[in-house]
Amino acid sequence: MTHCIPTAACAQVCYASQGQQFYRNSVVKSLAIDRLIDLDSEHVARKMIDEAAGRNIRITGSGEITPKHAPLLSYINQFGGNWWGFTRRIDTHKALPSLMFSTDATSPSETMKYVREEVPVNRRSYLRRPDDPPSPLEVAVTFPVHGSVTNYTSKTPIHETDCPVDRKEIEGCWNCKRCF
Ligand code: SF4
Repeated sequence: MTHCIPTAACAQVCYASQGQQFYRNSVVKSLAIDRLIDLDSEHVARKMIDEAAGRNIRITGSGEITPKHAPLLSYINQFGGNWWGFTRRIDTHKALPSLMFSTDATSPSETMKYVREEVPVNRRSYLRRPDDPPSPLEVAVTFPVHGSVTNYTSKTPIHETDCPVDRKEIEGCWNCKRCF
């Protein structure tokens, strides 16, 4: 979370700032992992691959990574692991262009210009609050707001690009893989 540069919408409904993810122990663990990545990213990569046991590793499940984390992901690649995740930062996406780039109705014009010009459609996502319009850019996936406290999925208009897990059409990203 210390690496986030949230938009107004993201800050309003951030799911890393609510529920279990915001328990003190969870925050302390996140900060400790970030410190360990700085100290020994090879060790972290090996541990992540061990714990994943062949499954795809979700990067930045809460909060952000930055370009400084690129060596960690290189190690994961080198050791045969698979990862996927999202960013809202241009500098992070430039360093790790296979990440999905997440936007929303309050994303700055500079961000939208970058996404329009530099990010392929299959790497674009859009966070949508109930009163927001659909994404102005073509995207691969739309996420109705779905935090544990701010769960607005049922209040958000349906769109053909909606995430099927958020819409409870399937269980688990491994059955979809649109963002992998
Ligand atoms: S279910 Fe599919 S669209 Fe939704 S986050 Fe997972 S991979 Fe992406």
